Amino acid sequence: MTFIESLTLMLALAYSASLLYWSGKKSGAFATIILAIGACISSLYWPLMLASAIAASSIFLLTKFKPELARGEQRINTLRDSTQHLLALSMLLVGVQFAINTALLKAGITPWLMRPDVGDAFLPIAGGIELKAILTLGLWDQTHPAAAVMLAVVLLTGLLCKRAFCGWACPLGLAGEYLYKLRKRFIKDEMLPPAWLDWPLRMLKYLLLAALIYIIVGMPSQSIPHYLSGNYHKIADLKMGLFFITPGLVTLICFSVILGLATWRRQGFCRYICPYGALLGLISFLSPFKIRRSTQHCLIESKGMNCDKCTRACPANISVHTLKHIRSDECQACMRCISACPKKEALHFSTRNGIKLSARGLTIMLLLIMFLIPLGAYVGGFWHSQTLDADRIYLIQHLKSIGH
Ligand code: SF4
Ligand code: SF4
Repeated sequence: MTFIESLTLMLALAYSASLLYWSGKKSGAFATIILAIGACISSLYWPLMLASAIAASSIFLLTKFKPELARGEQRINTLRDSTQHLLALSMLLVGVQFAINTALLKAGITPWLMRPDVGDAFLPIAGGIELKAILTLGLWDQTHPAAAVMLAVVLLTGLLCKRAFCGWACPLGLAGEYLYKLRKRFIKDEMLPPAWLDWPLRMLKYLLLAALIYIIVGMPSQSIPHYLSGNYHKIADLKMGLFFITPGLVTLICFSVILGLATWRRQGFCRYICPYGALLGLISFLSPFKIRRSTQHCLIESKGMNCDKCTRACPANISVHTLKHIRSDECQACMRCISACPKKEALHFSTRNGIKLSARGLTIMLLLIMFLIPLGAYVGGFWHSQTLDADRIYLIQHLKSIGH
């Protein structure tokens, strides 16, 4: 685990502990701290120990000088935006580190900068095959174990809190938001496609997802050990790294489509192309937490007023003010509708039997899922790739000759 990974992890856990403490869940806060300390002691890994000292000091300073931040008492949109920006900053640093590591390997130099294993999160096919290996054969991959861990993390967030991963954590979603805002500066008009076109476009991401699932499910279980020990699997991340740092025509076309969609309409990339969005959209139907509108408190039914502030705030164009429960696969649990609502009790992110999750609660849930599981995986030896740098240097020099 690199220092950036360790620092992000410890900052996220320390912040979760702070939020738990100030929301009255003191036992949860202490349990989180004990787990983090336990991980440091059992691993005796100095970057993790240094990161936990920095994280503890940062939360102490935050509590002293910006107590509302330490307590998570900011407005919903501020809490979501700051969480997403900090995670995006971490992913950016990880991406730079990954690119430098790959460039050094390509030049035949043993990297002086470690490969961040969290980059395996961008290998969904490898992650899916590894999960299948664990479930069907009890076999744990040693080459890109973090791919399975991160896929499990993303699936769990979808199962528990809809597409909150997209709305609160995804760096690509954030980049898309900036592109969209930039476009709006120059071209003010919305350019939404008509409903007859929007629906088939939304299905594109499900087609991509179906293709990925076909590859994973179509691989016979008995072939998996051979695949996981093969060179093609070993260089999956290097191929991905080179895809970005030495872009060819295919890369440029992919980038153009992604940038074009994100610029064209809000969440265009997430809505039309992203297979992770499709996967989370499907799983999110099982999530017990959904946005629910209380007709007892909503101004429309309770006061007979015209109001659609929630709908106008929704980046996914969901007609919130006409629905009682938002089941839509496009809902990213961003809570912008709740933030825009003038009636405090009218909209909640809650379960059917009335258990509510505040923005602070959602932040805690997301951070704990996203960081406690990787920490456990690291301590259990199921995070760091066992492929040697010497092998990676050899393989990257022979990339073109390595097939499935
Ligand atoms: S319904 Fe609410 S939480 Fe869901 S995407 Fe729209 S604004 Fe966000
Ligand atoms: S913004 Fe609030 S009060 Fe207005 S329609 Fe939506 S839920 Fe009802």
